[in-house]
Amino acid sequence: RTRVTDPTAVSIRNVKKHFGDFVALSNISLDITDNEFFTLLGPSGCGKTTLLRMIAGFESTTAGEIWLYGDEIESLPPNQRPVNTVFQDYALFPHMNVAKNIGFGLKMLGWSEREQQARVDEMVQTVKLQEFVHRKPAQLSGGQQQRVALARAIAPKPKVLLLDEPLSALDLKLRQQMRAELKSLQRETGITFIFVTHDQEEALTMSDRVAVMSSGELQQIGSPVEVYEKPANRFVANFIGETNLLDATVSDIVDGRVHCTLASGETIIAEAEDINNSLPVGTHGLVSLRPERIAIHANGSLNANSVTGTLGGTLTGTTYLGTDTQYDVQLKDGTVIGVRLQNDAGQNSNLSPGHAVELDAADGSARFLVN
Ligand code: ATP
Repeated sequence: RTRVTDPTAVSIRNVKKHFGDFVALSNISLDITDNEFFTLLGPSGCGKTTLLRMIAGFESTTAGEIWLYGDEIESLPPNQRPVNTVFQDYALFPHMNVAKNIGFGLKMLGWSEREQQARVDEMVQTVKLQEFVHRKPAQLSGGQQQRVALARAIAPKPKVLLLDEPLSALDLKLRQQMRAELKSLQRETGITFIFVTHDQEEALTMSDRVAVMSSGELQQIGSPVEVYEKPANRFVANFIGETNLLDATVSDIVDGRVHCTLASGETIIAEAEDINNSLPVGTHGLVSLRPERIAIHANGSLNANSVTGTLGGTLTGTTYLGTDTQYDVQLKDGTVIGVRLQNDAGQNSNLSPGHAVELDAADGSARFLVN
């Protein structure tokens, strides 16, 4: 493992990408730290693959700069960048066996036979393919092919590994298993991973930090906990996990918290970013309430200590989901909000449709969003 003095692995500086009139990336700036598992997350077409291809050198920038470990790399062709890519379809060589596939890049780089052999053996161990070294890709399962692709990309010891939706071809169980393997592979090798996905769960489970993108723009960068608990805006709140978004107007700011008046006339107390600078009384926005952070009380058993304030409503439906039950509650103004409670041996069996209920959000879990 090489020691690097610059903790910034990749620095994207005011990068733009236009395809003709179409703006694929509008103005992206972000720094990825050495040794980080960094994920670009966003819906199809948001520009994440384009950004990855620019780091790899397969695509030019329209404007801006990309730096790798302290060097601007615009003029470096892909094969001279200390970067390797794992593609969605693996792109294995069908006529080569596992060992040859893994060793291919090393041969191209001019490693000696002995060095190649040693490194291939090491990689085969790392990705647990000892039994399969002589098989061709067609004789391997999807998950095994994925491991070959990973081993081949890591073998030349790139400083940065780019992964473009590498798990999307696998079935759910295998995808979940590979998440854990990828994460430990990143830790063991110390290579900086830049992972592209549209799957928020994948992003949350593996990443040190996530950059949420939409329509060629960065929406938020933060740890999985930050982007989930403190979404910067409506897009992030909706895209990551599930949430209830209620129209709200700022009625007061007290002790760094926003008192929000809802359409029902009730007040809920929410957290927000940058409260004093940008949230005058009267500001319209949304309150985001995560379904699993809402407590539901049969009317009369109201939580008198509620920090966020309570909302009255009527239970209109329940859906059993195995680990959880989803409760749909209609507020006084007609808005329906979803509440999720973990199932616990009949604990909530007193809740049935038609009942009047009171809701309150866990302390700190209501977020006021301006846009
Ligand atoms: P996906 O998850 O579907 O791969 P993405 O977020 O990776 O989506 P990109 O592949 O980066 O999206 O594409 C971003 C936008 O740029 C898309 O609207 C796409 O159609 C457009 N685009 C990409 N490459 C080109 C190209 N060579 N010419 C024209 N438009 C392109």
